[in-house]
Amino acid sequence: MHWKQSIIVIIIIQAILNFLAGCGSENQPPQPSAHTDIKKFNFSEDSAYAYVVKQVLFGPRIPGTPAHSQCAQWILFKLSQWADTAFIQEGTVLRFDGKTLPIKNIIASFGKGKRRWLLMAHWDTRPWADQDSVRVDEPIAGADDGASGVAIILELARQWADNPPPVPVDIVLVDAEDQGPPVWEQIESKPEFWALGTQFWLKNPHRPLNSFEGGILLDMVGAHNPSFLMEGVSLQYAEHILKDVWHTASKLGYSHLFLFLQGPPVTDDHYFVNLAGIPMIDIINLNPSTRHGFAPHWHTHADSIPIISKYTLKAVGTTVGTWFANLPIP
Ligand SMILES: [Zn+2]
Repeated sequence: MHWKQSIIVIIIIQAILNFLAGCGSENQPPQPSAHTDIKKFNFSEDSAYAYVVKQVLFGPRIPGTPAHSQCAQWILFKLSQWADTAFIQEGTVLRFDGKTLPIKNIIASFGKGKRRWLLMAHWDTRPWADQDSVRVDEPIAGADDGASGVAIILELARQWADNPPPVPVDIVLVDAEDQGPPVWEQIESKPEFWALGTQFWLKNPHRPLNSFEGGILLDMVGAHNPSFLMEGVSLQYAEHILKDVWHTASKLGYSHLFLFLQGPPVTDDHYFVNLAGIPMIDIINLNPSTRHGFAPHWHTHADSIPIISKYTLKAVGTTVGTWFANLPIP
């Protein structure tokens, strides 16, 4: 991900916007209403954590490298065990500098039915540490930026093998999200330089795009002390999904992480999915106090295993799993 058009000024509304009708202050999580006997998803943070470590141990997942191919095979192997179908969509895309990248989008399906939901994360990692002050030309480990979203989705898939969600879901783990120009490139950054795997998938979808009711994207969802602000593109295109997911988080006791606070718009995979007509939210760690708007470890070598929090993995995994488990049966 990158900071939208040189970081759109972070629009933090002065007072925390309270979108909960009749709710108290932001310090007071909304009380569950009388009819909130939601089915809670029993997410294993230990399992998800192990999936983060596994991905990082392959090495940086940069398109065209052996580590990238090996990690893709492992992800496919796991999803094949759990999903009804799983396969790798191969393709080539052009990077910002004209270099051809061989990409692998990893796609798995649960359930039959024409009206489906999407669950997405990017699994590639950044080839540079261009926000670091040292070893800037070396790739990052991508424990949070890449591996965390994939790990949570793998743990959901593992459990869905026995207890599938009430609605059909397609998992699309996209490649080449994070291959956009490093900061030292003196070129105008365009959204099209990012989310290359998603753009490829949208041009070559494995089923008609109008099959999808909507979706959730997970990006940088594993670090200690995250703040999941209501990201701008998500609010613009998929407010109904966003608020429903945030309310689910509140009911589960995670309103200190899923903040009812408006964040800036971010160019991420969901941006292109929304432009294609599928409402999709991005659960992403946004930090108003940094100059780029993301957490301090973003695109640095600090994005490695120690940055990962099992508590955060559990919070996000439980929220997303519970939200899917409580969707109305179509
Ligand atoms: Zn990134």
